[in-house]
Amino acid sequence: MKKTEAEPPVESKETNPSRLRALILRFQTPRIIVQFASFLIFFGLFLGIGPWPILVPVIGLLGVPVKTVGEAFGGLQYMLYMLVAPWLALASVFLAAVLLNRAFCAWVCPFGLVQDILNVVKKSHLNVSIRTHNQMIYVKYLILAATLLISGVLAASVAAGIGAGYKQTLGPFAQAPFNTLSPADTLFAVIPRTLLDSRYALGDLLAQPGADITGAIINSLVSVSALFWVRIFLLAITFAIVIYVPRGFCRYVCPQGAFSAVFSRFSFLGLSRNPTRCTRAGCRDCVNVCPMLVPILDEPWEKFTHPECIMCLKCVDACSTKAIKPKFP
Ligand code: SF4
Ligand code: SF4
Repeated sequence: MKKTEAEPPVESKETNPSRLRALILRFQTPRIIVQFASFLIFFGLFLGIGPWPILVPVIGLLGVPVKTVGEAFGGLQYMLYMLVAPWLALASVFLAAVLLNRAFCAWVCPFGLVQDILNVVKKSHLNVSIRTHNQMIYVKYLILAATLLISGVLAASVAAGIGAGYKQTLGPFAQAPFNTLSPADTLFAVIPRTLLDSRYALGDLLAQPGADITGAIINSLVSVSALFWVRIFLLAITFAIVIYVPRGFCRYVCPQGAFSAVFSRFSFLGLSRNPTRCTRAGCRDCVNVCPMLVPILDEPWEKFTHPECIMCLKCVDACSTKAIKPKFP
């Protein structure tokens, strides 16, 4: 008997309300709303929101003059530079990780939002092999260790009265070694500050009759420090990577993510996978949507808190049998 091909489901008007309902009930809708709301609140001094005395485990806020909250990892480096015990920064990273796992990365971090936006530029993404991925994830731990070492040695040597030479050698890296080159700081602090300064300088120039505007612009471009161009270069590379690799910066570079990951395995919040519902052998829908390449199907089904998991809950939304659920505690 001749086999007939299964007809594709006919799109009908009746399916639209249920589609809309499914869209609203997905975790991704509130996640995107929370990401944009957090972004507005962080830079909310523009909106008249006053500063709050808290640090949060995200990056990109250290050098921003009009922020409402501080970033924990940048704050930690700066506290060591100022010879202040960094308890507040450590407590922020620890408490957030234990209570909410790495949810700040997926739901709150401004540079996480930038990566998510850039990632929709390209429909098809680079397939990083599991072997390469498993080696590359340690880069962010190396960056974390190197930063803590530089800042820790600086604090100890200055406290012992022998650190003046070391501090001078570090130059602009002394205050916050990672943030001095961080693409997040370049995007949110360095570029806006430079543009504002140029705007005021240009305003003064335009007020002078017969001023050489072109010459002044060329002079100002040449006089910008080499460090500025290094920062721009690193930002451009980061953008190029995250367009092709979802959350590429979070996966392989971000020391704040690595810091949170150290504690997140002890988190009350995790994911569970119901093995009786997860019956579609070879389905792997959850694994395929995971931006952090978490080996979901190899994790314990009762509850897992994988250090690379940022609790974006894309896997929960992707599972058609609703086998995966957030689990607390
Ligand atoms: S890993 Fe870093 S950049 Fe990524 S979301 Fe977390 S804090 Fe932000
Ligand atoms: S395991 Fe799920 S919640 Fe965790 S990062 Fe991957 S898709 Fe997001």
